[in-house]
This record gives sequence, C-alpha cells and structure tokens, in this order.
Amino acid sequence: MTTYPGEIWLPVIGYEEFYEISDYGRVRRLKRRKGPRGVNWPYLQPVPQRSGHLTVTLYRDNKPKLVKVHLLVLEAFIGSRPKGMITRHLNGDPADNRLTNIVYGTYKENLEDDIRNGILKGRAPWKVTAPCKSQECKRGAIAKGFCNKHYLREWKARTTS
Ligand SMILES: [Zn+2]
Repeated sequence: MTTYPGEIWLPVIGYEEFYEISDYGRVRRLKRRKGPRGVNWPYLQPVPQRSGHLTVTLYRDNKPKLVKVHLLVLEAFIGSRPKGMITRHLNGDPADNRLTNIVYGTYKENLEDDIRNGILKGRAPWKVTAPCKSQECKRGAIAKGFCNKHYLREWKARTTS
C-alpha cells in the first residue's frame, strides 16, 4: 500500500494506543498483536456491508468491535456526532471515506444527497445484490438496504419526524 501525499493520521477515539485513522479513511495498527500477521500490515482491510459502507474490526483488551470507518474519520477529525445527525457521503459513494466526502448532516440532507446522486434511480456506485429489507418486497435494495419505493417511505418518515 502506498502513502498518499499529505495524508494526515490521528488516533482512533477510544483506541488511541492501538489504531490511527487518516483523512483518506484508512485505518492502521500501531502495535502488533499475537497471532498471524496480515500481508497488509499495518493497514486494516475494510469489509463492505450490504449498504456499501465499510467497516473494520478493532480490538481492545482482546475484545473485537465492528465499527464503521466513516465514523472513525469524523470522530477523529471533526468530533462526536451531534444528536439526531447522521453521516452524509456527499458523492453518494458509501465506500468513499475521505474527509472531503463525509460530513454530519440531517436525514433530510442525506435524502437530498441520494436524490442528487441518482441513487434512487438505480445509479448507486456500489453493486447491489441484497433484497429489499421491507417485508415481502421482491425488489433489490438500491439504497440503505431498501428498494427505491421503500427507501423513500422509510426515509421520508425520518425527515419529517
Ligand atoms: Zn422494497
């Protein structure tokens, strides 16, 4: 793995002794653990979730915790998430966790992002293989685990609450 020019690293909040997060959304280990050593040491290999968001498993006191990479970036570089806010991926790509692409925002702003980015028209930048989370819906999920109809229903309810 290469180092990006000007890449900035900060301690991962709550795991300051063990991991750092960069403004490019990469996570690296500070100490070796016992056991097999991955080929990509010291970088963690993120795992994409159904939604397209990337996660990594962090260890503290030998306890694993699955965390979203975008939250690590914002917590370290911006601060903790204000109550009632969520993370927006401005360009619509949930795997693009560069600090320039993510920001805290409201559900309404997040919905507007998805509309602007064409995600509700099936132009999601990630490959969708999961079925819609809504019960008995036979369509494929295109955003946040829902088809476009159920996504709009779920998310419009949140933007007005
Ligand atoms: Zn559906």
